[in-house]
Amino acid sequence: MDDEALRARVRAFLAAHWSAEDRHDPVAVRRFRALATEHGYLFGWVPRELGGSGTPGQPLAARVIAEEFAAVRAPGEPDGMSVAMLVPTLLEWGSDEQRRRFVPPTLTGELTWCQGYSEPTAGSDLGSLRTTAHADGAGWEITGTKIWTSGATEASHMFLLARTEPDTTDRSGLSYFLLTMAQPGVLVRPLRQLTGQAGFAEVTLAGARTTELVGERGRGWEVSRSTLRHERSMVGGPARHERLFAALLRLASTPRPDGTTALADPLVRDELVGLHALVEQQRLAGRLRDSGDSGNLLPLTAKLAGTVIAERVSALALRLLDTDVLHGPDRTRWLHQWLGSLGIAIAAGTSNVQRDIIAARGLGLPS
Ligand SMILES: Cc1cc2nc3c(=O)[nH]c(=O)nc-3n(C[C@H](O)[C@H](O)[C@H](O)COP(=O)(O)OP(=O)(O)OC[C@H]3O[C@@H](n4cnc5c(N)ncnc54)[C@H](O)[C@@H]3O)c2cc1C
Repeated sequence: MDDEALRARVRAFLAAHWSAEDRHDPVAVRRFRALATEHGYLFGWVPRELGGSGTPGQPLAARVIAEEFAAVRAPGEPDGMSVAMLVPTLLEWGSDEQRRRFVPPTLTGELTWCQGYSEPTAGSDLGSLRTTAHADGAGWEITGTKIWTSGATEASHMFLLARTEPDTTDRSGLSYFLLTMAQPGVLVRPLRQLTGQAGFAEVTLAGARTTELVGERGRGWEVSRSTLRHERSMVGGPARHERLFAALLRLASTPRPDGTTALADPLVRDELVGLHALVEQQRLAGRLRDSGDSGNLLPLTAKLAGTVIAERVSALALRLLDTDVLHGPDRTRWLHQWLGSLGIAIAAGTSNVQRDIIAARGLGLPS
C-alpha cells in the first residue's frame, strides 16, 4: 500500500474510533491503544503473541501512522523507558520466558520501569560502576547505589547494570538485570530538581534480590548498549520535536491584548523558519534512518540534534512570553520545558560525549 492510501485508511480508522476529548481518560486511552494494535497500527515491531501487532520491517508505514495519530492527538506508542527502551532490549536479548513474562504487561502499562545505570562515581564512564551482583545459588544479591534514576518513585521494576566479575574494573565484568522495586533491599530517595519536581531519585540497593539476568553473565555492556541506542533514538525522535514546535507556533500566533501577534514580527518569523528547517531535517533524517539506508553517521546525530531543537524552541518560547510580560501556566510550562532541555543535554550520554562519538565513529576523526 502506498503512503497516501495508508494515510486515508488510518484517517478513517481515527475518525471512527478516536475523540481527542478522551485523551486525558486513561481507560479510554488504554482501550483505544488495544484496538489500534488489533488493527495493526501500533507495535508492529512486537510479535502478536507478545501483545504487539506483529508486522515487523515496516518502519516507514509506522512513521506515516504516527504522523496521522499525532495530527488528531490520538495516543500512539508511548515513548518512555518501559516501552521504547526495555521492550526492544528484551526482544533482542531476553530469554523466551523473560519476553513472555515482561513484554505484554509492559506494553499495557501494568509494569513500569526505571533505568539503573548511573552511580555517584560512574556516569559517562559506565565501565567504572561499582554496584555488585553476587550469585548465591538461589539467584543474585545486588548491592550498591544508583543515582539520577528517572521515574524510580513510581516504577514497579528496574533494569540495571551491576558488576558480576569482581576482578574486573571495566565494562567487561558487567551484567544486565531486571529487579522488582517493591522489596526490602531497595530504598528510593527522591531528588528535587531546579523545577521543584522530583523526577529522579537515588536508589540504594542493599542486598536486593533477583533471578533475572538478561543475556549472558559478563555481557551486560552489550545488552545496555542496545537499551542506550533505543534511548537516544527516542530522545532524538522527530515526533516530540514536531509537537514542541507546533506548540511554539500556537504561542507565536496567540493574539496579545492589543490584537497583534509575535508571528507578525519579521525577526520572530525568521527564527521560526530556522527552527522549522531543523525540525523538518530531523523528521527527514528519521525517515532515512527508518529506511535503513542512512549510512553510519545519521543514527549517531539524532540525540544531539534533538537536544539542540528542544533547547532552542523552548528558549524562543520563553523570550516571546518575556516580551509580552505574560505569566501564569504557559510560562511555567515553557520554563519547565527549557529547564528539562538542559537535562536532556546530559541524560542518555552528554552532548560532549555525543560529539566525541560522532567525530570518532561517524567522521573517523581521532577521539
Ligand atoms: C534529566 C536526567 C535524567 C537522567 N536519568 C537517568 C536514569 O534514568 N538512569 C540513569 O542511570 N542515569 C540517568 N541520568 C544520568 C545521566 O546518564 C548522567 O548524568 C550522564 O551519563 C553523565 O554522567 P555524570 O553526571 O556522572 O557526568 P560526568 O560523566 O562526570 O561528566 C561531567 C562532564 O564531563 C564531560 N565528559 C565526561 N566524559 C567525557 C568524554 N569522554 N569526552 C568529553 N567530555 C566528557 C561531560 O560531557 C560532562 O560535561 C539522568 C540525567 C539527567 C540529567
